[in-house]
Amino acid sequence: MEQLLGAHTSIAGGVSTAIDRANILGFNAIQIFTKNNNQWNAKPLTDIEINNFKSKLTKSNIKIIIAHSAYLINLASKWKLILRKSREALVDELTRCEQLGIPYLNFHPGSHGGKGEEEGIKLIAEAINICHEKTKAFKVKSMLETTAGQGSSIGYKFEHLRKIIELVEDKNRVAVCIDTSHIFVAGYDIRTKESYNKVMKEFDKIVGLDLLKCIHMNDSKKDFATRVDRHEHIGRGYIGIEGFRNIMNDKRLLKIPKILETPKGKEQMEDLENIKVLKGLFIR
Ligand code: ZN
Ligand code: MN
Ligand code: MN
Repeated sequence: MEQLLGAHTSIAGGVSTAIDRANILGFNAIQIFTKNNNQWNAKPLTDIEINNFKSKLTKSNIKIIIAHSAYLINLASKWKLILRKSREALVDELTRCEQLGIPYLNFHPGSHGGKGEEEGIKLIAEAINICHEKTKAFKVKSMLETTAGQGSSIGYKFEHLRKIIELVEDKNRVAVCIDTSHIFVAGYDIRTKESYNKVMKEFDKIVGLDLLKCIHMNDSKKDFATRVDRHEHIGRGYIGIEGFRNIMNDKRLLKIPKILETPKGKEQMEDLENIKVLKGLFIR
């Protein structure tokens, strides 16, 4: 079986150009931003852009596209204005995904900015509920990403995601993404077979493997449990190659899209090298 492998891919020149790039690079799974990821506002997608995207996608080898939200969004912000803008932006991004037929919008849960994790978790779930309410008939799911735990960010413990999901009313609209570099620096050791199995068992018990719909495949420039988020090429960081061998050969994860968010230049040639490394680990 061919695994779903690819990378976060640029949309410079319009959303549909990501599909051109993915075809050239040979990806069958990608992640994209649906708008400039450093701005609050974006022009709505035009019918031409939407149709272009969909027709290119049908003709491509891409089996799945995940969207990643803009980094500005903070559903747990202590600032009223930011909180409001974040909720509006999430609705906008869910709308873009729905228009493009993208099944998952991945985002970081949020940072509480000193209010505490309990309060932050409540705010995040409240925001998700509001956004789901405003996009009621939509198919796109909200995908919560595990985080590195920098600053006051929430999501560095599997329990955080569980608590958020428990408070989300429409459970059919939530999914989860594991970022390997994030969980590693957050204190989940995936380097040896034994520690990896222990981490996945814990994830399954607390969050549930049935909710896992994407894995961000990143090695880490920072050491175990440092809670600092710096991605590194596969096998060249503190996780190391064995950690990725564990994931690539986990039978339960064969159908889960595995997406690189490792350092890259404009042409994304580094992604090809990292994909090659990952493919080489998989024992058919
Ligand atoms: Zn992310
Ligand atoms: Mn990630
Ligand atoms: Mn990261």
